[in-house]
Amino acid sequence: RFITFEGGEGTGKSTQARLLAERLRALGEDVVATREPGGSPEAERLRDLILSGRAKNLGAFAETALFSAARLDHLRSTIRPVLARGGWVICDRFLDSTRAYQGALGNLDPRVLRALERVVVEDTVPGLTLLLDVPAEIGLERARQRSQSAPDRFEAEAIGYHRSLRQAFLDIAHQEPQRVRVVDARPAPDEVAEQVWATTAETFAL
Ligand code: C5P
Repeated sequence: RFITFEGGEGTGKSTQARLLAERLRALGEDVVATREPGGSPEAERLRDLILSGRAKNLGAFAETALFSAARLDHLRSTIRPVLARGGWVICDRFLDSTRAYQGALGNLDPRVLRALERVVVEDTVPGLTLLLDVPAEIGLERARQRSQSAPDRFEAEAIGYHRSLRQAFLDIAHQEPQRVRVVDARPAPDEVAEQVWATTAETFAL
């Protein structure tokens, strides 16, 4: 009952996570919608620090350690208690974002990545990961339209970066096709939501 949304910038993850949570709640389900980095008070503080750019010269390993500290608290304070009581957790970004951003793009040593996953995530692996996929140009354009203020340090990267990011996520889906399902996120939100629902209903036999 642990579902994560993954994808690059402007793929509509937050919207789809919200719509799925609403649809499950309409069925009377106990649903907690959350996000990473963040998702608990301590982890939200670490999110602010990471995304502010004040810690931008840490290097891949130390940056991943910060993300990992946030994830540890998020798992302990939010995710595991909800799963333990039989509720649903819908999370906007999780371990695949670490694999894509810090691993594939940040050149973090894959052995370090795997070791961190083992000690941080343990067996709290999502039952379903919905990878929202759009061409890099579309995602970047959507992200630009959305951010009224200055783009954060990650969104400011060039188009080549977004292409590599998309490929990194698609590679993960290719490696774990059972868990990670690719959803075409180009159509209108309602249409994407139908795909998301069909995949969720199939996976969890709803
Ligand atoms: O999902 P959202 O766009 O709010 O994520 C905030 C930012 O954090 C993103 O722009 C993403 O690039 C970055 N991020 C990251 N590594 C992660 C998770 C998020 O660089 N593991």
